[in-house]
Formats: sequence, C-alpha cells, structure tokens
Amino acid sequence: MDPGGKPSTAQMLVLASSSALTALFYSIYRKRATTVARLKEAKKVSIDQDLKALLCEAPGRCVPYAVVEGVVRSVKETLNSQFVENCRGVVERLTLKEEKMVWNRTTHIWNSTEKIIHQRTNTVPFVLASHDDDVTASVRVLRPLEASELDLETTYENFHPSAQSLSSAIGHFLSGERPKGIHETEEMLRVGDSVTGVGELVLDNNLVKLQPPKQGLCYFLTRLDYDGLLRKQSGSLRLWQVLTALVGVAACSTLLYILWRRYRHHRRSRKERLLLEAFARQQRRRLRELDVDESRLAPNICSICLSRPRSCVFLECGHVCACVQCCDALPAPKLCPICRAPIDRVVTLYNS
Ligand SMILES: [Zn+2]
Ligand SMILES: [Zn+2]
Repeated sequence: MDPGGKPSTAQMLVLASSSALTALFYSIYRKRATTVARLKEAKKVSIDQDLKALLCEAPGRCVPYAVVEGVVRSVKETLNSQFVENCRGVVERLTLKEEKMVWNRTTHIWNSTEKIIHQRTNTVPFVLASHDDDVTASVRVLRPLEASELDLETTYENFHPSAQSLSSAIGHFLSGERPKGIHETEEMLRVGDSVTGVGELVLDNNLVKLQPPKQGLCYFLTRLDYDGLLRKQSGSLRLWQVLTALVGVAACSTLLYILWRRYRHHRRSRKERLLLEAFARQQRRRLRELDVDESRLAPNICSICLSRPRSCVFLECGHVCACVQCCDALPAPKLCPICRAPIDRVVTLYNS
C-alpha cells in the first residue's frame, strides 16, 4: 500500500485475476450445470420398444434429446485390431506420443512431458442393437467422433525407449531436453460393447438414427450406463462449484482488504487534519494571550510557546519549529506539530 492509501499493483493484479477466474469458473460451472440438467430431462427410450412408431408420432419425426442404451454392432464391415487377433471394432484410434524429460530452469527439476506426434482415427458405420438377440430393431449412430466422453478401450500399448549413448547424454544435458521414448497405443470401440448414446433421435428413410443434437446440447457416446454418465457429469460439477467458490472468496477478500486500507487511510488523514486545525487554533489563542500581532513575531520563534527561539530539529522530517522545552513537553508518542511525522530523534541547535 502506498502512502496515498491507493492499492498496489500487486493487489490490483490479484483482484483482477481472481475476479476474471471467478467469472470464468462460474461460466464453466453454469455450462456443466445446464448439461447435467438437460441430461436429466432427456427422454429415455429403449430399442426393444417400437421406436419407429414412437418417432412417427413425434413432431418432425424427431426426439430432440434422447437416451438410448444398446450393444455395438457393425453395419457391414468391421475394423480389425492391428495388434490383437480376433479383436474387431467400429472405431479405432492409433496414437503415437513422444515422451521426454524437460529441464525446468526455475525449479531445477526434470519434468516429464508428452506430445502427440501422430494420431489417426478410423470409423465404420455402426448401430446400437438390443441386448436381446431376438429384437432386430437398431439405432444407427451418426458422426460418433463428435461425441464427448467417447471413452475407447485400450487394446494395445507399447513403449519404445530412445537409444542412449554418452555423447547424446551430454547433448541432452546441454539442451535441457532428454527424450524417453515413443508411446504407441491403439484404442477401439469394440463390436459387442455396451454403449449409452445421448443425442437427437430421428426417423429418416425408415431408419432410426442417433445424431449430434441441436441447440447447444451435448452429444454423448459412452461405455458407461446412463446413471454412471450422470454421476460422472455431476461429479465434475461439484469440482467447478468448489473452484468458483474458492476464487470468489479470494476476490472478495482482496476487495475488502483494499477498501479497508483505503478507509483506514481516510480516517488517519482526517484525524491529522483535525489535529493540525486544533494546533492552529491553540496558536491563535496563545497569540491573543501574549497580545502580540502574528506579523510582529520573530521568524525563528517557537511555534508552540511563541516566546522562546526555535532550538531543535526533528528527525526524520527535518522540521525546525520548536524549542527544547516545548519538545520535551510533547505527549508520547511524539509527533512533529507541523507534519505529524513520528519524531525518531531530536537534535539540539546551538546558535553562536
Ligand atoms: Zn517553545
Ligand atoms: Zn515535521
């Protein structure tokens, strides 16, 4: 805090960043809360019921937000795992990740980092079918890669460590980067997996389709069941609520602290002004008592008793305004009568 009672740059920075974070976290929380609320309101349908009849009666042959649970079945072809035999799926994602250690110059610690250097996702058309093999009805899933929570099963994982030699070790030490190796993974949505889909259900050319919903609703495809998905979404909601509350409290306390400091400064300067006014009044009274005109006073007369010459200097402010006797009579803690600064030391002046 500077002497003017104004907040410091650091305090303003803390206030600005905590307020911005509060707004950001709150907007994320609101968005997630809306997602959870919409998810709870979504219409639960079953593949076993006559979905075509249900959609024919619905306005626009569409249910804007529906939950459907079923088993993954391919439409024509399937994708075969490139690493595991007899492992067939409808979504396959191959990822190559480079892992390395990076020297942090501030903390002097090697930190592990990873970067995706290659990723490819293949899909083939698929449907969600009933768990009951006798039911032939199914729901075609469109644009599965647009879904959030598309948690694929890791079917293959391998780590290829980088070759290390003495000369490369020295190079890494100098550059501050030490490659660990390449992490290769294959993830799949397998045929036969149980999947919950949440999206827009439409009847199109006698085919029931699940597709990304409109009006900013969230498209979900997950291997969790509906309750599991709801629990997961509600769990992250609590986290954002707590984060919003924490940064909100930080922003409020910083603001209150700044306001309190300003109020305290205002009160202190008011008190000083009143003291100075009282001092001026007392000086005028003393002039009347001595029955002298202010203009006729010697310029070096003590400004308290108005009778003896000024004979000491107050430190650190440096004012020469009083005699030694008046200085001794000042009440503790001693303050300079001119500027109200605390008097640390008094140096007596000897005029010759
Ligand atoms: Zn005096
Ligand atoms: Zn002073």
